[in-house]
Order: sequence, then structure tokens, then C-alpha cells
Amino acid sequence: MTAKDYIERENKYGAHNYHPLPVVLDKGEGVYVWDTDGKRYFDFLSAYSAVNQGHCHPKIINALVTQAKKLTLTSRAFYNSALGEYEEFVTRYFGYDKVLPMNTGAEGDETALKLCRKWAYEKKGIPENEAQIIVCEGNFHGRTITVISMSTDPDSYKGFGPYTPGFIKIPYNNIPALEKALENPNVAGFLVEPIQGEAGVYVPDEGYIKKAYELCRKKNVLFIADEVQTGIGRTGKMLCCDHEGVRPDILILGKALSGGVMPISAVLADDDIMLCIKPGEHGSTFGGNPLAAKVAIAALEVIRDEKLPDNAARLGEIFRQELKAFRHDMVEIVRGKGLLNAIVIRPKNGKEAWDVCLALKENGLLAKPTHQHIIRFAPPLVITEEQLREALDIIKKTLLQFS
Ligand code: PLP
Repeated sequence: MTAKDYIERENKYGAHNYHPLPVVLDKGEGVYVWDTDGKRYFDFLSAYSAVNQGHCHPKIINALVTQAKKLTLTSRAFYNSALGEYEEFVTRYFGYDKVLPMNTGAEGDETALKLCRKWAYEKKGIPENEAQIIVCEGNFHGRTITVISMSTDPDSYKGFGPYTPGFIKIPYNNIPALEKALENPNVAGFLVEPIQGEAGVYVPDEGYIKKAYELCRKKNVLFIADEVQTGIGRTGKMLCCDHEGVRPDILILGKALSGGVMPISAVLADDDIMLCIKPGEHGSTFGGNPLAAKVAIAALEVIRDEKLPDNAARLGEIFRQELKAFRHDMVEIVRGKGLLNAIVIRPKNGKEAWDVCLALKENGLLAKPTHQHIIRFAPPLVITEEQLREALDIIKKTLLQFS
């Protein structure tokens, strides 16, 4: 089969809810992926930051295969021999009393919202059904009905109403707006991405997260961090909130929690919050399955043992420095933290970010535009300096083709 055949088959039998770059991937290892013709590419998307540990990391795959041969799923109707080990490991790793295991990032967010509302009624004393949660314009928390009810991006929400009530939308990176919204006594939580990834890698002002956290503290409002994309080493610290010394009241993780091997998400909180949810009130057939438990332990060990946050911090600096120094009229802005970076493309002669991504692909590097003018660059964190410099050469060479 040719690449064209693969693409036509997906188009014919699959829903058209994505617009992929025309490349058919067949194999991955570390920072590289190969297409069905055997051509190798740098993966600068890392499955939206799920593959921080690199493709098919042997330690994670070994954990997967070993456990897959033993026991994969019991449901939470019974205890299993792997879940407790993972729960102990992950809560110590991130410093929380308890974890609630789920699968996708969106489910993690949904879980955090439910937990926050339950806490509002049980602990804060907000009248039943009156709890409000503050969210930020430009957010991306996933695709479920409640999650898109928080969205301000018409591509996400338009045509899918009616929407879930109970959200107050304020501008991102705006402390006065948060202060004002917090005056409402029914506010139970503030849900925020420490860097808005899908929106185009918007890095807030230094001090924003810390100030926001302090304001929430003062008003007895839960500070909920969605670190599904920014967490687990991506921005040069284990969590992006670590840059400002903030420990969220509720922490949502996903994506790289499995190293891209399977959907694993988690919500972490202390007992005072987590124990508001009682048996039968929340769950998931697959959440906390023994396969996921073993995979997540291995994935987190890799992050720590290979010091991937440090690598992301060091190489991220080089990446931004090099691209900022490379003056090109299509590169309007270079921004990011660690190895979560983006360039804003100024269209030229009718050529846009999509055309640049197509040319990057031809030159052996995969990246995807987010919105129309932004290209995100987020390679696996196992990338070496030599590989990063090679990738930078490809990016520069590609941009020069548009001169
Ligand atoms: N939250 C954030 C910050 C994300 O970036 C994403 C996905 O990109 C999600 C949640 C949703 O994760 P999932 O696609 O696994 O549902």
C-alpha cells in the first residue's frame, strides 16, 4: 500500500474530526518516527506532549508487556495487586495525599471539576447547584460537553450546545480580572493551564501563577492546575507550577503519564478535598487498571532517572535563543518554556503555518500548526543537543525556502 492508499482509507472509513499532515507513520524510536516508505523524521509534536520519554521507551514497553501477560483489567469492583503500588508511588512523587486515576486528559479535567463542586458543597458551604468555577479565555481542557462549555474557541464549542452552566470566563494572564471574579462568594475553584498549550503556547507573565494562587488561597477557592500538557518535565521542571513554587490544590495530569503508551490520567489532591468523593460517585471502567499502574510507574521513573526536566530546561534555552537570533520575516514571535515552544508565523505570499509544516515534513521534521499562524515545537525530552541542533538546521533551512 502507498501513503496515498493509507490516507484514502482513513478518509473513507474514519470520521473527519482531524486534519492530519499527509504523512503515514509506521514506527517510532526515541525522537524519531518513520513513515511507511521508511523515511525518518524528527517528531516535534510528541503526540501533543504525550511522548516526553521518547517513542517506545524500552523501560516503559517492558513494563507494559510484562504486566500485559499477567493481568490487564479487573475494574474497580475488586482490588488489584498493582494499583496500590502506583497510588503510593505517584502520590509520593508529586507530594499529595491521594490520587484518583482516570484515562484521558478530558476525564481528568471532568474529575477535577466534580471534585471541586463536591468540595464546594460539603466543605465551603456553597448552596447546592450554585458553585461557580473560574476558567480562562483561550483555554483548552479537552472535548467533552462540559469541557467545551468552558471554551471560548468557536471551533471547540460551536454547534454543540446546550452547554454546562457554572463557569465564569475571564482573560488569561489577568490578575485584576481574577480578583474581580473572586468577589463572587459562590466561586469554588479557579482552573488554569500554567502555560496555554493548545492556544499557541501562551506563557503568562512571571508571577501570574503565584499571584493567582495567593488570591485563591485568600478567598478559600481551590487552585486547580491543568498540567496535562505542561506537566511531567515538559517545561523544564517536573510541573510547570514548580517554576513559581506553587502547589496546586488539585493537580490534573495526563499524556506523558504513560509516555504515550496508553491513555492514563490522574487527579491529585489532599484528603480534605479528595475524600469528598465517596464510593459510587465517580469512576471509570479502565481508570486504575493494573496495566496503566505499571506503565505509569515506569514512565515517571524514566522522567526522574534520565533527568528529563533538566534536559528540557537546557535545550529549550538553546532552541529559543537560536530561533530568536535567526532573523526571518515569517517568524514574528518565538516563545515558550523548556521544550514547549512555538513560533508565530507571519504569512508571506499567501504561505501560512500549514505550508511551513508541509515543507518541514519534506525536510524530515514533523510539527503541526495550532490555530492558523502558530507552529508548536515540542520534541520528546530525550532529545540530545546534537539532535536538537540538527533539527534547528532543518527548521532554518525550511524557513529560508520561503525567502
Ligand atoms: N488539558 C490540556 C491542557 C490539554 O492540552 C489537553 C489535550 O491537548 C487535554 C486537557 C485533553 O486531553 P485528552 O486529549 O487526553 O482528553
